[in-house]
Amino acid sequence: MKASMSGQLMFTPDLENRFSKARLRQAIRTVHLLLVNVRWRGPVMTRRQFEAAALATVLTASVEARATSEVIARQAPAHYRLSVDGLRITALCDGYLNLAHTLFPAATEQHASELAHAAFLTPGPLPTAVNAFAVEAGGRLILIDAGVGPSRGDTLGRLPAEMRAAGLDPALVAAVLLTHLHTDHCGGLLDADGQPVFPNAEILVAEPEWQFWSDPGLAARAPAAMRPMISVANQALGAYRQRITRFMPGTEPIPGIRSVALAGHTPGHTGFILGSSNDAVFIWADIVHVASYQFPRPEWGLSFDVDQTAAADMRARTFAQAAGDRLRVAGMHLAFPGIGHVVRDGAGFRYLAEDWRPLR
Ligand SMILES: [Zn+2]
Repeated sequence: MKASMSGQLMFTPDLENRFSKARLRQAIRTVHLLLVNVRWRGPVMTRRQFEAAALATVLTASVEARATSEVIARQAPAHYRLSVDGLRITALCDGYLNLAHTLFPAATEQHASELAHAAFLTPGPLPTAVNAFAVEAGGRLILIDAGVGPSRGDTLGRLPAEMRAAGLDPALVAAVLLTHLHTDHCGGLLDADGQPVFPNAEILVAEPEWQFWSDPGLAARAPAAMRPMISVANQALGAYRQRITRFMPGTEPIPGIRSVALAGHTPGHTGFILGSSNDAVFIWADIVHVASYQFPRPEWGLSFDVDQTAAADMRARTFAQAAGDRLRVAGMHLAFPGIGHVVRDGAGFRYLAEDWRPLR
């Protein structure tokens, strides 16, 4: 970055771009030298050898340039590791979805725009991360939530690829702990053919959550918008039906991982606490869906909350406890890697994302 005469800041081309241009310049220089060689020193190679060498040089440069531009066109792998009390945690991003302010019944367009503007976002549907967390504990690979799966377009369904990029084999997942049974948390249990993505995993789900979604009368009394979610939840439960374990919120479904009842968003909405020291991480699942709206306005419920009043009340209480106890929190819809702290800010709250840290 440099300053122009007018004092404005100007960005120089990024390093990668300069790198690929340098490669191309080098290729042209090589061809030029070959030509010079032929012209002034007589043929050191046959014409056919020269043409082959020149072609190979140009092709190599163009392949390298294309490979570099393809890499630049994709985001870097989305995994981030932390180590807590003997547990190795890997935050993973399944992708993102855009949530419109109209999904928050208490929001007005003007207020939503003001909050987006205050967060340096363009007013309108706001991109919201869908995260999951892998935990290596006692020699077992545990996954907390499974992302959306392949059904929701290009911006989602990346979890298996991100796991592989992080060196975590989906086939080695021993257990999937589910925070709740909404599609963006359990849809990723299945591939595009409806087959289990985690063929060797036990599925652990809170008893009230299992009761709610597996109720055969639910679809008939649910609003139409909820019916696809009911279908996905039951497909996922069905595909793993031999390997489902139900647990009561508040218990320790896996040694070292404590569950916390956070009912409201769904009847069995559950958080998990990893570790026991000051470094412990409280995975609060869907306490927040859009950070720039709900930290300042915890009362803004999401239309997909099964009980919006209870969800808003749980959000406010959870914020207050996290801020008061200085808890390190992690969320499925906080910007990746979704780990940080909550502080009080006037009548509302504010989120402070944790800085990048080396792995200890
Ligand atoms: Zn969610």
